[in-house]
Amino acid sequence: MIESPDVVIAGGAAMGSATAYYLKALEPNVQVVVVEKDPTYRFSSTVLSDGNVRVQFNLEENIQMSQFALEAIEGFSDRMAVGEWKPEPSPRYQGNLFLTDETSIEAAQAGLARQRSLGCDVEWLEADDIRDRFPVYAGAGYLGGTYGARDGSVDPNAVLQGYMRRARALGVQFITGEATAIKAERRRIAGVALATGEVIRTEKVVNATGAWCAPLAATAGVDLPVEPVMRTVYVIDTYLDNRGLPSVFLPSGLYLLPEGEGRFATGWSQPDDPKGYDFTFRREKFNDAIWPELASQLPAFEALHLVSGWTGLYEVNTLDGNGIIGEWPDLGGLFLANGFSGHGFQHCHAVGRHLAELILGRGTSLDLSRLGPQRIVDHEPLFENPSRII
Ligand SMILES: Cc1cc2nc3c(=O)[nH]c(=O)nc-3n(C[C@H](O)[C@H](O)[C@H](O)COP(=O)(O)OP(=O)(O)OC[C@H]3O[C@@H](n4cnc5c(N)ncnc54)[C@H](O)[C@@H]3O)c2cc1C
Repeated sequence: MIESPDVVIAGGAAMGSATAYYLKALEPNVQVVVVEKDPTYRFSSTVLSDGNVRVQFNLEENIQMSQFALEAIEGFSDRMAVGEWKPEPSPRYQGNLFLTDETSIEAAQAGLARQRSLGCDVEWLEADDIRDRFPVYAGAGYLGGTYGARDGSVDPNAVLQGYMRRARALGVQFITGEATAIKAERRRIAGVALATGEVIRTEKVVNATGAWCAPLAATAGVDLPVEPVMRTVYVIDTYLDNRGLPSVFLPSGLYLLPEGEGRFATGWSQPDDPKGYDFTFRREKFNDAIWPELASQLPAFEALHLVSGWTGLYEVNTLDGNGIIGEWPDLGGLFLANGFSGHGFQHCHAVGRHLAELILGRGTSLDLSRLGPQRIVDHEPLFENPSRII
Protein backbone atom coordinates (compact mmCIF):
# COMPACT_ATOMS: atom_id res chain seq x y z
CA MET A 1 0.00 0.00 0.00
CA ILE A 2 1.07 3.60 -0.67
CA GLU A 3 2.52 4.91 2.60
CA SER A 4 1.11 8.21 3.86
CA PRO A 5 -0.85 9.09 0.70
CA ASP A 6 -1.85 12.72 0.11
CA VAL A 7 -5.54 11.81 0.21
CA VAL A 8 -7.55 8.88 1.56
CA ILE A 9 -11.11 8.49 0.30
CA ALA A 10 -13.45 6.37 2.43
CA GLY A 11 -16.11 4.84 0.16
CA GLY A 12 -15.43 4.00 -3.47
CA ALA A 13 -18.81 4.27 -5.22
CA ALA A 14 -19.96 7.21 -7.39
CA MET A 15 -18.76 10.03 -5.12
CA GLY A 16 -15.53 8.37 -4.02
CA SER A 17 -14.49 7.11 -7.45
CA ALA A 18 -15.38 10.38 -9.23
CA THR A 19 -13.34 12.34 -6.66
CA ALA A 20 -10.40 9.96 -7.10
CA TYR A 21 -10.59 10.31 -10.88
CA TYR A 22 -10.71 14.13 -10.85
CA LEU A 23 -7.83 14.32 -8.37
CA LYS A 24 -5.59 12.32 -10.69
CA ALA A 25 -6.90 13.96 -13.86
CA LEU A 26 -6.08 17.41 -12.43
CA GLU A 27 -2.81 16.48 -10.71
CA PRO A 28 -1.12 13.27 -11.87
CA ASN A 29 1.40 13.36 -8.99
CA VAL A 30 -1.15 13.33 -6.17
CA GLN A 31 -1.20 10.03 -4.25
CA VAL A 32 -4.69 8.75 -3.60
CA VAL A 33 -5.94 5.67 -1.74
CA VAL A 34 -9.62 4.66 -1.85
CA VAL A 35 -10.87 2.41 0.96
CA GLU A 36 -14.02 0.51 -0.02
CA LYS A 37 -15.53 -2.07 2.33
CA ASP A 38 -17.46 -3.98 -0.35
CA PRO A 39 -15.96 -4.05 -3.84
CA THR A 40 -19.09 -5.79 -5.16
CA TYR A 41 -20.97 -2.52 -4.35
CA ARG A 42 -24.16 -4.51 -3.89
CA PHE A 43 -25.56 -2.26 -1.15
CA SER A 44 -24.16 1.01 -2.49
CA SER A 45 -26.90 3.54 -3.24
CA THR A 46 -25.19 4.27 -6.54
CA VAL A 47 -25.95 0.88 -8.09
CA LEU A 48 -29.41 0.74 -6.47
CA SER A 49 -30.34 4.18 -7.82
CA ASP A 50 -32.78 4.94 -10.64
CA GLY A 51 -30.08 6.81 -12.54
CA ASN A 52 -32.31 9.79 -13.30
CA VAL A 53 -30.56 12.99 -14.38
CA ARG A 54 -32.46 16.28 -14.54
CA VAL A 55 -31.84 19.97 -14.75
CA GLN A 56 -35.20 20.55 -13.09
CA PHE A 57 -34.08 21.80 -9.70
CA ASN A 58 -34.80 25.11 -7.98
CA LEU A 59 -31.35 25.89 -6.56
CA GLU A 60 -28.85 27.31 -9.00
CA GLU A 61 -26.11 25.02 -7.68
CA ASN A 62 -28.15 21.86 -8.23
CA ILE A 63 -29.07 22.96 -11.76
CA GLN A 64 -25.45 23.73 -12.59
CA MET A 65 -24.26 20.39 -11.21
CA SER A 66 -26.84 18.64 -13.42
CA GLN A 67 -25.72 20.65 -16.44
CA PHE A 68 -22.19 19.43 -15.78
CA ALA A 69 -23.52 15.86 -15.49
CA LEU A 70 -24.92 16.10 -19.03
CA GLU A 71 -21.57 17.46 -20.21
CA ALA A 72 -19.62 14.75 -18.39
CA ILE A 73 -21.76 11.97 -19.90
CA GLU A 74 -20.98 13.22 -23.43
CA GLY A 75 -17.87 11.28 -24.42
CA PHE A 76 -17.71 9.55 -21.00
CA SER A 77 -17.22 6.19 -22.65
CA ASP A 78 -14.08 7.30 -24.53
CA ARG A 79 -12.71 9.44 -21.69
CA MET A 80 -12.93 6.59 -19.18
CA ALA A 81 -11.68 3.87 -21.54
CA VAL A 82 -9.01 1.58 -20.13
CA GLY A 83 -7.30 -0.29 -22.96
CA GLU A 84 -10.01 -1.99 -24.98
CA TRP A 85 -12.58 -1.61 -22.19
CA LYS A 86 -15.13 1.21 -22.30
CA PRO A 87 -18.00 1.90 -19.91
CA GLU A 88 -21.39 2.25 -21.59
CA PRO A 89 -23.52 4.70 -19.59
CA SER A 90 -26.31 4.31 -22.20
CA PRO A 91 -27.96 7.70 -21.69
CA ARG A 92 -31.68 7.80 -22.53
CA TYR A 93 -32.92 11.38 -22.77
CA GLN A 94 -36.61 10.58 -22.67
CA GLY A 95 -37.46 13.79 -20.76
CA ASN A 96 -38.94 14.43 -17.31
CA LEU A 97 -42.40 15.88 -16.78
CA PHE A 98 -43.19 17.39 -13.36
CA LEU A 99 -46.96 17.71 -12.93
CA THR A 100 -48.11 20.60 -10.77
CA ASP A 101 -51.17 21.37 -8.70
CA GLU A 102 -52.08 24.32 -6.50
CA THR A 103 -49.60 23.26 -3.83
CA SER A 104 -46.62 23.08 -6.16
CA ILE A 105 -47.20 25.56 -8.98
CA GLU A 106 -45.41 28.49 -7.37
CA ALA A 107 -42.20 26.55 -6.72
CA ALA A 108 -42.41 24.97 -10.19
CA GLN A 109 -42.71 28.35 -11.92
CA ALA A 110 -39.82 29.78 -9.86
CA GLY A 111 -37.69 26.75 -10.74
CA LEU A 112 -38.58 27.04 -14.41
CA ALA A 113 -37.53 30.70 -14.50
CA ARG A 114 -34.21 29.89 -12.83
CA GLN A 115 -33.56 26.90 -15.11
CA ARG A 116 -34.24 29.02 -18.20
CA SER A 117 -32.03 31.84 -16.95
CA LEU A 118 -29.22 29.25 -16.84
CA GLY A 119 -29.92 28.15 -20.41
CA CYS A 120 -31.81 24.91 -19.68
CA ASP A 121 -34.18 23.42 -22.21
CA VAL A 122 -37.33 23.27 -20.03
CA GLU A 123 -40.83 24.40 -21.01
CA TRP A 124 -44.22 24.88 -19.39
CA LEU A 125 -47.02 22.61 -20.65
CA GLU A 126 -50.65 23.46 -19.98
CA ALA A 127 -52.91 20.66 -18.72
CA ASP A 128 -54.48 20.37 -22.21
CA ASP A 129 -51.05 20.06 -23.86
CA ILE A 130 -50.20 17.22 -21.47
CA ARG A 131 -53.49 15.47 -22.26
CA ASP A 132 -52.79 15.79 -26.01
CA ARG A 133 -49.10 14.89 -25.98
CA PHE A 134 -49.01 12.29 -23.18
CA PRO A 135 -52.60 11.07 -22.62
CA VAL A 136 -51.35 8.32 -20.28
CA TYR A 137 -50.37 11.07 -17.83
CA ALA A 138 -53.72 12.90 -17.93
CA GLY A 139 -55.07 13.30 -14.41
CA ALA A 140 -57.61 15.37 -12.60
CA GLY A 141 -56.55 18.50 -10.76
CA TYR A 142 -53.24 19.20 -12.49
CA LEU A 143 -52.64 22.78 -13.56
CA GLY A 144 -49.93 21.85 -16.05
CA GLY A 145 -46.34 20.81 -15.77
CA THR A 146 -42.71 21.57 -16.47
CA TYR A 147 -41.13 19.44 -19.17
CA GLY A 148 -37.38 19.06 -19.56
CA ALA A 149 -36.74 17.34 -22.87
CA ARG A 150 -33.05 16.69 -22.11
CA ASP A 151 -33.62 15.07 -18.73
CA GLY A 152 -33.28 11.31 -18.72
CA SER A 153 -31.47 8.38 -17.24
CA VAL A 154 -27.98 6.96 -17.25
CA ASP A 155 -26.70 3.55 -16.13
CA PRO A 156 -25.28 4.19 -12.62
CA ASN A 157 -23.10 1.09 -12.57
CA ALA A 158 -21.43 2.11 -15.85
CA VAL A 159 -20.62 5.54 -14.41
CA LEU A 160 -19.24 3.99 -11.22
CA GLN A 161 -17.16 1.42 -13.13
CA GLY A 162 -15.92 4.11 -15.52
CA TYR A 163 -14.63 6.42 -12.79
CA MET A 164 -13.26 3.56 -10.69
CA ARG A 165 -11.34 1.78 -13.47
CA ARG A 166 -10.03 4.99 -15.03
CA ALA A 167 -8.93 6.28 -11.61
CA ARG A 168 -7.13 2.98 -11.03
CA ALA A 169 -5.46 3.19 -14.44
CA LEU A 170 -4.25 6.69 -13.51
CA GLY A 171 -2.59 5.30 -10.37
CA VAL A 172 -5.21 5.52 -7.63
CA GLN A 173 -4.94 2.60 -5.23
CA PHE A 174 -8.25 0.93 -4.30
CA ILE A 175 -8.07 -1.26 -1.22
CA THR A 176 -10.77 -3.45 0.25
CA GLY A 177 -11.32 -2.52 3.87
CA GLU A 178 -13.59 -0.80 6.31
CA ALA A 179 -12.68 2.64 7.59
CA THR A 180 -13.57 2.49 11.28
CA ALA A 181 -12.29 5.86 12.49
CA ILE A 182 -11.05 9.18 11.20
CA LYS A 183 -8.04 10.24 13.25
CA ALA A 184 -7.39 13.87 14.11
CA GLU A 185 -4.58 15.66 15.94
CA ARG A 186 -4.78 19.31 16.96
CA ARG A 187 -7.87 19.90 14.85
CA ARG A 188 -6.27 18.53 11.72
CA ILE A 189 -6.73 15.21 10.00
CA ALA A 190 -4.02 12.70 10.85
CA GLY A 191 -5.19 9.41 9.32
CA VAL A 192 -7.80 6.73 8.85
CA ALA A 193 -8.06 3.59 10.98
CA LEU A 194 -9.17 0.37 9.31
CA ALA A 195 -11.05 -2.59 10.80
CA THR A 196 -7.77 -4.55 10.60
CA GLY A 197 -6.26 -2.18 13.17
CA GLU A 198 -3.98 -0.60 10.59
CA VAL A 199 -3.87 3.22 10.40
CA ILE A 200 -3.21 4.99 7.08
CA ARG A 201 -1.48 8.27 7.86
CA THR A 202 -2.69 11.17 5.74
CA GLU A 203 -3.57 14.85 6.06
CA LYS A 204 -6.66 14.74 3.86
CA VAL A 205 -9.67 12.46 4.09
CA VAL A 206 -12.81 12.43 1.97
CA ASN A 207 -15.91 10.94 3.58
CA ALA A 208 -17.77 9.38 0.63
CA THR A 209 -19.48 6.60 2.55
CA GLY A 210 -23.03 7.46 1.46
CA ALA A 211 -25.70 6.37 3.92
CA TRP A 212 -22.93 5.22 6.31
CA CYS A 213 -21.31 8.69 6.52
CA ALA A 214 -22.61 9.89 9.91
CA PRO A 215 -21.15 7.13 12.12
CA LEU A 216 -17.75 7.51 10.43
CA ALA A 217 -17.80 11.33 10.78
CA ALA A 218 -18.76 10.93 14.45
CA THR A 219 -15.43 9.16 15.14
CA ALA A 220 -13.78 12.55 14.46
CA GLY A 221 -16.32 14.42 16.58
CA VAL A 222 -18.26 15.66 13.55
CA ASP A 223 -22.02 15.52 13.88
CA LEU A 224 -23.61 15.05 10.46
CA PRO A 225 -27.43 15.24 10.22
CA VAL A 226 -27.58 12.35 7.73
CA GLU A 227 -29.72 9.24 8.20
CA PRO A 228 -30.09 6.04 6.17
CA VAL A 229 -33.69 5.80 4.94
CA MET A 230 -35.16 2.78 3.14
CA ARG A 231 -36.24 3.53 -0.42
CA THR A 232 -37.95 0.82 -2.43
CA VAL A 233 -38.24 0.89 -6.22
CA TYR A 234 -41.13 -1.08 -7.77
CA VAL A 235 -41.16 -2.41 -11.32
CA ILE A 236 -44.65 -2.66 -12.79
CA ASP A 237 -46.09 -4.01 -16.01
CA THR A 238 -49.04 -2.14 -17.49
CA TYR A 239 -51.12 -2.47 -20.65
CA LEU A 240 -50.04 0.99 -21.78
CA ASP A 241 -48.01 1.97 -24.81
CA ASN A 242 -45.14 3.84 -23.17
CA ARG A 243 -43.00 4.41 -26.26
CA GLY A 244 -41.80 8.02 -26.40
CA LEU A 245 -43.17 8.87 -22.96
CA PRO A 246 -41.15 11.02 -20.57
CA SER A 247 -40.72 10.10 -16.93
CA VAL A 248 -43.39 11.72 -14.78
CA PHE A 249 -43.28 13.12 -11.23
CA LEU A 250 -46.51 13.82 -9.35
CA PRO A 251 -46.75 16.75 -6.90
CA SER A 252 -46.74 14.20 -4.07
CA GLY A 253 -43.28 13.02 -5.17
CA LEU A 254 -44.42 9.69 -6.63
CA TYR A 255 -42.67 9.07 -9.95
CA LEU A 256 -42.89 6.75 -12.96
CA LEU A 257 -39.92 6.01 -15.20
CA PRO A 258 -40.83 4.28 -18.50
CA GLU A 259 -38.68 1.21 -19.13
CA GLY A 260 -40.23 0.06 -22.45
CA GLU A 261 -42.94 -2.41 -23.49
CA GLY A 262 -45.47 -1.10 -20.96
CA ARG A 263 -43.04 -1.46 -18.06
CA PHE A 264 -42.30 1.34 -15.55
CA ALA A 265 -40.18 1.75 -12.44
CA THR A 266 -41.97 3.63 -9.70
CA GLY A 267 -41.30 4.84 -6.16
CA TRP A 268 -42.31 7.43 -3.61
CA SER A 269 -40.33 8.95 -0.73
CA GLN A 270 -42.58 9.50 2.25
CA PRO A 271 -41.83 11.01 5.66
CA ASP A 272 -42.60 7.75 7.49
CA ASP A 273 -40.24 5.56 5.42
CA PRO A 274 -38.27 3.40 7.88
CA LYS A 275 -34.72 4.31 8.82
CA GLY A 276 -31.83 1.89 9.15
CA TYR A 277 -29.51 -0.38 7.20
CA ASP A 278 -32.31 -2.62 5.99
CA PHE A 279 -32.67 -3.73 2.36
CA THR A 280 -35.91 -5.71 2.68
CA PHE A 281 -38.28 -5.32 -0.28
CA ARG A 282 -41.33 -3.43 1.10
CA ARG A 283 -44.21 -4.96 -0.85
CA GLU A 284 -46.81 -3.59 1.59
CA LYS A 285 -45.92 -0.01 0.70
CA PHE A 286 -46.82 -0.72 -2.90
CA ASN A 287 -50.24 -2.09 -1.97
CA ASP A 288 -50.98 0.46 0.77
CA ALA A 289 -49.66 3.66 -0.76
CA ILE A 290 -48.25 3.56 -4.27
CA TRP A 291 -50.97 1.72 -6.17
CA PRO A 292 -53.85 3.70 -4.59
CA GLU A 293 -52.05 7.00 -5.28
CA LEU A 294 -51.36 5.98 -8.88
CA ALA A 295 -54.89 4.81 -9.57
CA SER A 296 -56.44 7.93 -8.05
CA GLN A 297 -54.07 10.41 -9.71
CA LEU A 298 -53.52 8.82 -13.12
CA PRO A 299 -56.54 6.68 -14.06
CA ALA A 300 -54.61 4.98 -16.89
CA PHE A 301 -52.63 3.17 -14.16
CA GLU A 302 -55.59 1.46 -12.55
CA ALA A 303 -54.68 -1.88 -14.15
CA LEU A 304 -51.12 -2.95 -13.49
CA HIS A 305 -49.04 -5.81 -12.22
CA LEU A 306 -46.12 -5.64 -9.76
CA VAL A 307 -43.22 -7.56 -11.30
CA SER A 308 -40.20 -6.98 -9.10
CA GLY A 309 -38.22 -4.30 -7.29
CA TRP A 310 -35.47 -3.61 -4.80
CA THR A 311 -34.63 -1.48 -1.78
CA GLY A 312 -31.70 0.88 -1.44
CA LEU A 313 -30.81 3.58 1.06
CA TYR A 314 -31.28 7.32 0.73
CA GLU A 315 -28.62 9.25 2.67
CA VAL A 316 -31.10 11.82 3.91
CA ASN A 317 -29.78 15.16 5.10
CA THR A 318 -32.39 15.88 7.76
CA LEU A 319 -31.48 19.59 7.85
CA ASP A 320 -32.49 20.43 4.27
CA GLY A 321 -32.26 17.40 1.95
CA ASN A 322 -29.26 18.81 0.06
CA GLY A 323 -25.70 17.63 -0.39
CA ILE A 324 -22.98 18.68 2.06
CA ILE A 325 -19.96 19.41 -0.11
CA GLY A 326 -16.62 20.71 1.10
CA GLU A 327 -14.21 20.92 4.02
CA TRP A 328 -15.53 20.72 7.57
CA PRO A 329 -14.87 24.13 9.16
CA ASP A 330 -13.43 22.94 12.50
CA LEU A 331 -11.35 20.04 11.23
CA GLY A 332 -8.81 20.93 8.56
CA GLY A 333 -8.41 18.21 5.94
CA LEU A 334 -11.82 16.55 6.37
CA PHE A 335 -13.74 16.80 3.10
CA LEU A 336 -17.37 15.72 2.77
CA ALA A 337 -19.51 14.46 -0.10
CA ASN A 338 -22.55 13.51 1.95
CA GLY A 339 -26.29 13.82 2.46
CA PHE A 340 -27.45 13.93 -1.17
CA SER A 341 -30.73 12.26 -0.25
CA GLY A 342 -32.32 11.21 -3.57
CA HIS A 343 -30.24 13.11 -6.13
CA GLY A 344 -26.58 12.33 -5.58
CA PHE A 345 -25.90 10.03 -8.49
CA GLN A 346 -26.27 12.74 -11.13
CA HIS A 347 -24.14 15.14 -9.08
CA CYS A 348 -21.16 12.81 -8.60
CA HIS A 349 -19.35 14.37 -11.59
CA ALA A 350 -19.60 17.95 -10.32
CA VAL A 351 -18.95 16.98 -6.70
CA GLY A 352 -15.92 14.87 -7.63
CA ARG A 353 -14.45 17.72 -9.66
CA HIS A 354 -15.26 20.29 -6.97
CA LEU A 355 -13.68 18.33 -4.12
CA ALA A 356 -10.60 17.62 -6.23
CA GLU A 357 -10.25 21.34 -6.93
CA LEU A 358 -10.64 22.21 -3.24
CA ILE A 359 -8.20 19.53 -2.09
CA LEU A 360 -5.60 20.61 -4.64
CA GLY A 361 -6.08 24.28 -3.73
CA ARG A 362 -7.24 25.21 -7.21
CA GLY A 363 -9.98 27.66 -8.12
CA THR A 364 -13.33 25.93 -8.28
CA SER A 365 -15.27 25.61 -11.55
CA LEU A 366 -18.61 26.09 -9.75
CA ASP A 367 -19.38 28.17 -6.68
CA LEU A 368 -20.88 25.53 -4.37
CA SER A 369 -20.09 27.42 -1.18
CA ARG A 370 -23.77 27.63 -0.17
CA LEU A 371 -23.81 23.81 -0.15
CA GLY A 372 -20.71 23.72 2.05
CA PRO A 373 -20.66 22.28 5.61
CA GLN A 374 -20.74 25.72 7.27
CA ARG A 375 -24.55 25.72 6.98
CA ILE A 376 -24.65 22.50 9.01
CA VAL A 377 -22.57 24.09 11.78
CA ASP A 378 -24.74 27.23 11.67
CA HIS A 379 -27.92 25.19 11.39
CA GLU A 380 -29.08 27.23 8.40
CA PRO A 381 -30.96 25.04 5.93
CA LEU A 382 -30.79 25.67 2.19
CA PHE A 383 -33.93 24.05 0.85
CA GLU A 384 -34.51 22.80 -2.65
CA ASN A 385 -38.04 21.96 -1.68
CA PRO A 386 -39.01 22.34 1.98
CA SER A 387 -42.17 20.23 1.65
CA ARG A 388 -40.51 16.96 0.75
CA ILE A 389 -37.18 15.13 0.32
CA ILE A 390 -36.07 15.05 -3.31
C1 LIG B 1 -33.65 3.71 -4.72
C2 LIG B 1 -32.78 4.89 -5.00
C3 LIG B 1 -33.02 5.64 -6.13
C4 LIG B 1 -32.21 6.75 -6.42
N1 LIG B 1 -32.42 7.42 -7.59
C5 LIG B 1 -31.59 8.46 -7.92
C6 LIG B 1 -31.74 9.09 -9.18
O1 LIG B 1 -32.60 8.74 -9.98
N2 LIG B 1 -30.88 10.10 -9.48
C7 LIG B 1 -29.90 10.50 -8.61
O2 LIG B 1 -29.16 11.42 -8.93
N3 LIG B 1 -29.73 9.89 -7.41
C8 LIG B 1 -30.55 8.88 -7.05
N4 LIG B 1 -30.40 8.25 -5.83
C9 LIG B 1 -29.39 8.77 -4.88
C10 LIG B 1 -28.01 8.29 -5.25
O3 LIG B 1 -28.01 6.91 -5.47
C11 LIG B 1 -27.00 8.61 -4.14
O4 LIG B 1 -27.16 9.95 -3.71
C12 LIG B 1 -25.57 8.44 -4.64
O5 LIG B 1 -25.43 7.22 -5.33
C13 LIG B 1 -24.59 8.50 -3.48
O6 LIG B 1 -23.34 8.04 -3.92
P1 LIG B 1 -22.21 7.72 -2.85
O7 LIG B 1 -21.01 7.26 -3.59
O8 LIG B 1 -22.08 8.90 -1.95
O9 LIG B 1 -22.85 6.59 -1.92
P2 LIG B 1 -22.91 5.01 -2.13
O10 LIG B 1 -23.19 4.67 -3.55
O11 LIG B 1 -23.83 4.45 -1.12
O12 LIG B 1 -21.45 4.56 -1.81
C14 LIG B 1 -20.90 4.59 -0.51
C15 LIG B 1 -19.83 3.53 -0.49
O13 LIG B 1 -19.13 3.58 0.74
C16 LIG B 1 -18.86 2.27 1.16
N5 LIG B 1 -18.65 2.35 2.62
C17 LIG B 1 -19.57 2.64 3.56
N6 LIG B 1 -19.01 2.71 4.78
C18 LIG B 1 -17.69 2.44 4.59
C19 LIG B 1 -16.58 2.39 5.47
N7 LIG B 1 -16.72 2.64 6.77
N8 LIG B 1 -15.37 2.09 4.95
C20 LIG B 1 -15.22 1.85 3.61
N9 LIG B 1 -16.25 1.89 2.75
C21 LIG B 1 -17.46 2.21 3.22
C22 LIG B 1 -20.08 1.47 0.77
O14 LIG B 1 -19.79 0.09 0.65
C23 LIG B 1 -20.40 2.12 -0.58
O15 LIG B 1 -19.81 1.46 -1.67
C24 LIG B 1 -31.17 7.13 -5.52
C25 LIG B 1 -30.94 6.38 -4.37
C26 LIG B 1 -31.73 5.26 -4.11
C27 LIG B 1 -31.47 4.46 -2.89
